[in-house]
This record gives sequence, structure tokens and C-alpha cells, in this order.
Amino acid sequence: MWGPDKYLENLYESTKPKFNFDVRHMDEYYRWRDGLREVFTRVLGGFPKNRSQLNPRIVEEKDYPDYLLQRIVYDSDIDLPIPAYVLKPKKSDEKLPAIIACHGHGYGSKEIVGLNPDGTDNLSEPGYQKNFALELAKRGFLVIAPELLGFGDRRLEQDRNKEPNESSCHMISTYLLMLGKTMAGLRVYDTIRTIDYLETRDDVDINRIGCMGISGGGLVCGFTTALDERIKAAIISGYTNTFKDSVMSIWHCVDNFVPGLVNHAEMPDILGLIAPRPLLIESGTSDPIFPIEATKRAFAKVKKIYEFLDAQDKIDSDFFDGQHEISGAKAYDWLDKWLKA
Ligand SMILES: [Zn+2]
Repeated sequence: MWGPDKYLENLYESTKPKFNFDVRHMDEYYRWRDGLREVFTRVLGGFPKNRSQLNPRIVEEKDYPDYLLQRIVYDSDIDLPIPAYVLKPKKSDEKLPAIIACHGHGYGSKEIVGLNPDGTDNLSEPGYQKNFALELAKRGFLVIAPELLGFGDRRLEQDRNKEPNESSCHMISTYLLMLGKTMAGLRVYDTIRTIDYLETRDDVDINRIGCMGISGGGLVCGFTTALDERIKAAIISGYTNTFKDSVMSIWHCVDNFVPGLVNHAEMPDILGLIAPRPLLIESGTSDPIFPIEATKRAFAKVKKIYEFLDAQDKIDSDFFDGQHEISGAKAYDWLDKWLKA
């Protein structure tokens, strides 16, 4: 009876985000897009002024019948190395379309390339992420799966000996927040640097780069694609919603929070920055942490932005009978359609 529920509700309702999409002319659209990108980058904590050397190096290589699996490392920033898996299909000598695969919570990049936490082959049924990086490689994409900051090999020293599924999300996120930075911002910048790395590879067609991510990786995929137009097609799985109905109403990891963001825009506006590039929204109708009704409302709003740009054929949804998990029913064909044609 003395709780702050009503107060919090009013606080959200009285917020009038400046970049709520309400655009009639192209000049208004460009102001909306460029203005939102600028403020979004700022609330994420900003990016370094100068991009440091990538210094890519291969640290491990393993041969599979259909693909070569490499563990590589490159530098996002000074003292910020990114280990990543590259899965290179064997069939082709031509330049390949490439997909950046962003994992969600779990034991890190190994979990989506078919490996156990100890690096051995995972021959059992995959979990909610369904080995989607491996699935993409089997379909002929060169896939890169960066270890997201705070997971697996990118946990803090104090967490390195904990269970594989335990992350450093909390400690890194809260540390960054006190310095005006965000985990989301660092993960987005790491992904931008991953595209920089792909640009250095002579086996990648830089004009055919896609991104796919689930859950926390869906955030990274959606936010990075919103800001970096080098990504030509995206699949966001198990994430699309409003901030209000998901991370602001149901318990979520602190790595989701970007101070002040909702004063400027809600999630559909952010994802609308991806338009008119191809975007598929995948969501389970029983996802308990990203409720489907809000997903559908968010999708309708993003779709309006595509319609404004006369690009309604570039957006689609796969609302499937399932929980917080990858579907794949439309996803792999969607990337084929837009990146292999
Ligand atoms: Zn987290």
C-alpha cells in the first residue's frame, strides 16, 4: 500500500522521448536518424576517439570435415583483447559473406560453436542458443563468434575459476557505470572492432556482412547494427521488446541498463535505426523475460519505420511456439536471401 509502483508508472508515462519516431518528410527522417545515433552513442558511454591497432593473431586451429575452426585474438582497445572463434567453410575459394554471431548468457562463445566449456566437442543436445554459429557455418557463411565482455575467457581474474556459466557481468557493469560508461557500450564497440577485423581478411566480402544475436547477444546485435551501416542484414532473437515491458519490469542482468536512454528513445526507435536494411525479429511466444505481447507492439512500431522508407519487404518476424531460445525456422534462409543473392 505504501509501495512506489504508481510513482514509477507515472515517471515512465510522463517521459516524452525526443526521438520517438514521428516523421513525415525525409529531411525530418535524417534529423531523427542522425540525432538519435549521436545521443545513443553518448548514453552508451561514447567510443574511443582513435581506433587502436587490431594486431590479429591465430592462437588455435582445429580441422572439421566441413569447416576450419580458428581461435583468434584481436585488440578492441589498449589492454582490451577480444578472443573469438572463426568458422570458415571449406567449400569455397571465393570471398564469403560473413556473419557476426553474438551469444547470450551462458559459458560464452564456445556455447554457440559446438564446444563444451573445456573445449571438447559438444555432442549432446545444444541449449537455448542451438549452436547457431555452427549452423550458419554449415550453410556456407564465414562466421565469427566474439567472446562477449564478461563471459568465458573474458571474465575478471576473480571469476575465472567459477562455474563456466557464471559471468563477470555484475562487477564489470557496475564498475563502468560509476565511470559514465556501460557494458552495452563496450560490447557494441567490440562488435564494431570485429567488423574492422573482418575488413582485414581477404576471404570476406565486406559488402555482405550480417549479424545474428540472441538475448544479451540480441542487444549487442541490435544496438551495433543500429549504429554501424557496414552490417547489411540482422537477426535479433529473444530480445525485441520495449525496455519498459522487459528490463524495467522483469528481473534482468545489469548489463542491459543504459542510464538515461529512455529519456531519448524506446527500444523500437533504436531498432528502427536499422531500417531500411533487412531485419528479422525472432521471438518465442512463451518467452518469460521478453513478453510476446510487447514484442509484437515493438515489432509493429519498427515496421512503421520500414514502411516510411518504403522498405516493408526488408522486415519480417518469426514468432514461434517456444521460450527464450533460437528458432531458426526463418533465420538462416533470411540471411541466405539477403547476403548470398
Ligand atoms: Zn549479463
